[in-house]
Amino acid sequence: MSTLTSYDPSTREAIGTVVITTAEQMPALVTSSRKAQKSWAALSLTQRQQIVTQAYQHLESVQDQLAKLISQEMGKDHQRATYEAGGTIQSAAYFAQEITAALSNEMLDRGTELQYRALGVVAVISPWNYPLAMANNLLMPALMAGNSVVLKPSEETPLVAELFVNTLNKILPENVLQLAQGDKQTGQALVSSDINMVAFTGSMATGKHIMANAAPGLKRLVMELGGNDPLIVMASADIDAAVQFAVASSFENTGQMCTSTERIYVDARIADEFERKVVALAGRYKVGPWHQAQVNIGPIVNHKQHQNIVAQLQDATRKGAQLLLGRDDYTSPFIQPTVITGITPDMLLEQVETFGPVVVISHFESIDEAITRANDSPYGLGAVVFGGQDAHAVAEQLEAGMVGVNQGVGGGNAPWVGAKQSGFGFHGTAAGHRQFAQVRVISQ
Ligand code: NAD
Repeated sequence: MSTLTSYDPSTREAIGTVVITTAEQMPALVTSSRKAQKSWAALSLTQRQQIVTQAYQHLESVQDQLAKLISQEMGKDHQRATYEAGGTIQSAAYFAQEITAALSNEMLDRGTELQYRALGVVAVISPWNYPLAMANNLLMPALMAGNSVVLKPSEETPLVAELFVNTLNKILPENVLQLAQGDKQTGQALVSSDINMVAFTGSMATGKHIMANAAPGLKRLVMELGGNDPLIVMASADIDAAVQFAVASSFENTGQMCTSTERIYVDARIADEFERKVVALAGRYKVGPWHQAQVNIGPIVNHKQHQNIVAQLQDATRKGAQLLLGRDDYTSPFIQPTVITGITPDMLLEQVETFGPVVVISHFESIDEAITRANDSPYGLGAVVFGGQDAHAVAEQLEAGMVGVNQGVGGGNAPWVGAKQSGFGFHGTAAGHRQFAQVRVISQ
């Protein structure tokens, strides 16, 4: 029996251990999932809504434990972890209701009926950065549509997933929701097994592997992938508001967020003031382990990702970028709040997702140059522009699934959606919920 140990990224202390689901065990697990799915799909949508809502109510009893495990396993500060756990659990009843409305049969013209049926077994493969919320966003619509679900959580956060699934399973019928623990190998075995859909949130590179692996079976895919989000700050912007956003968005969740600001293009005419204020604000952030008071930048999730951030910073300084804030001793597992300027298109910081607490600044002379650089990327998750009346016209030209004007992306009950290689398929809203179902048209 192989096991996976979960470590606190701040201290490298072991927190707990889970049993790995091996490739050999996967076919039997998926067969039991498929068997359970038949009777689950035979229930009415309203019955499933009732059971799912009740199961999520049960999670309230472990809400504090879930928040603590989120902090312990991936280093998120206590307040943010509490918000993630509370937000997921407290919004569940509303979420289930919204999904029910989206998946209810619709009558079209001349007696034609549109139905949203189950697909079968859905593999939900999730990342570590929001270990509860990301799994939940895909898992709930999949279950509600009458599918059974096998959740493969990140190997960085197996204990959050274990508590989440075990608690839901006190109410859900047997085997409708199962857990497959392990790393990439477990994920690969699950994608290759006899499943009908993969709902995935994670990096672009893994998304490409999954797509290739799912292709022979033409398995359905929803892919929520990485981002390299630009922020354009125009000369007409409210500079103080832009500074607040730039720092908060670059540092949110220690920069480990798919829509955190990764690249800032600021008009050269206001760049000095912008940078001075960014440095002043960024310097007030406090770095440390999750349980220390007032910490708002935690550890980097693991050594490999820490090295990746350091390599990107060193690449940039070697090529001429200047460090305005931050130390270059890079003591793992923390990265001090960092502000770097003079970024050029040949630098890794511009080209790939960094996923760390780094404010990355370039100056532009013309707005066309800023738009070209913002769009010159395979990623297209989010993009933000700060400016006056002229900002909206710039937003229209940005190649991203979600664009914010003088604010962050998303909100307003909109779908969470990426463009270009940041993914396809999406979740949220009726259109998102329906991606976990097979449309069936009955004409009579
Ligand atoms: P990752 O791609 O390394 O891993 C994600 C999951 O995929 C893990 O459970 C992992 O074990 C599994 N996996 C890895 N290789 C696999 C394979 N070949 N086959 C099947 N499963 C495999 O990503 P991560 O480091 O956990 O998460 C960070 C990434 O997720 C970032 O790129 C971030 O931008 C992205 N993300 C995107 C969104 C979004 O909504 N678009 C949200 C959160 C995170």
